[in-house]
Amino acid sequence: MSAPNKSYDPVEVEALKPEEIERMRDEALAAFAAAGDLEALAHAKTAHAGGTSPLSLANREIGALPPQAKAAAGKLVGMARGAVNKGLAARQAELEAERDARVLVEEAVDVSLPYDRVPAGARHPLTTLSERIEDIFVAMGYEVAEGPQVEAEWFNFDALNIGPDHPARGEADTFFVQAADGSANSGTVLRTHTSPVQIRSLLDREPPVYVICPGRVYRTDELDATHTPVFNQVELLAVDEGLTMADLKGTLDHMVQSLFGQDMKTRLRPNFFPFTEPSAEMDMVCYVCRGESVGNPDRPCRTCSSEGWIELGGCGMVNPKVLVACGVDPEKYSGFAFGFGIERLLMFRHNVEDMRDMVEGDVRFTRPFGMEI
Ligand SMILES: [Zn+2]
Repeated sequence: MSAPNKSYDPVEVEALKPEEIERMRDEALAAFAAAGDLEALAHAKTAHAGGTSPLSLANREIGALPPQAKAAAGKLVGMARGAVNKGLAARQAELEAERDARVLVEEAVDVSLPYDRVPAGARHPLTTLSERIEDIFVAMGYEVAEGPQVEAEWFNFDALNIGPDHPARGEADTFFVQAADGSANSGTVLRTHTSPVQIRSLLDREPPVYVICPGRVYRTDELDATHTPVFNQVELLAVDEGLTMADLKGTLDHMVQSLFGQDMKTRLRPNFFPFTEPSAEMDMVCYVCRGESVGNPDRPCRTCSSEGWIELGGCGMVNPKVLVACGVDPEKYSGFAFGFGIERLLMFRHNVEDMRDMVEGDVRFTRPFGMEI
């Protein structure tokens, strides 16, 4: 900046001549108008509105003018800079609008086009269905419990009131684990149900106990359309003071309503299991025909064979002998339990006709179930 000079004539300062200021302003506006995109405009902004632009430099010269000339020169430069900034802002807005409109066109996605990415897989429906059932019970305050798949015979049989002579204990159904010395009897089996987890839960906890035990179990069945040697069960155990069959029934109704809809209901048919007394088979109303196929030949139902009910699993009040085996006083506590196979539930909930589809690992089977999580 030049030093103040009281005898200075403003018209002699070249940069502050009105026609010079006008030229600078017009050059700036022309440069903005010529900028074809935001990048070019940024360069023009630096050149014509930045700290070293001609108008900024001219502005600095004002300080060197005699006091009487400063006001007029200041007004002149101020107006020119105002016009430049206004022009800049207008061009900026114009170019941004153009860019936005262009991006909308260039980056548009046609959602109707077939996609070419490697398709994502899906979680296995046995897993998602099992988790969905767990969620129903966790919401009621139950705890998810797990246990080993290679299990001591005592947990798998004896503690559940399945004596040494019980048919389920025979080799016809059970995979026995060979001992390390090669002898047949190691005292361990591949668990044939998830009930040993109930025993472990009772031994681990003080009542009240509310657990749900999902898991893989093993039986010596051949793999065919309706059998598999490895399958999944969910079992439930509640032990508390004053539990009755009514609590069991209400819990079952809540579960099938959560899985199949509000108007679903269950029924119990007397049965026998060593670990429950009394015991029952539980059925649910056929969710396809809602019982309307019964006695109605015009509307046969394949899902329930026109019987109106679908067998879901077994249940009952926990046998007092089981409570005693777990150190629980049957005079004070009672309990209920039920269990069923996830594969079977998946078959009739989703019309899966062949159990082998569930174990072959073909993504074409799992993918239609989507990514329910
Ligand atoms: Zn039906």
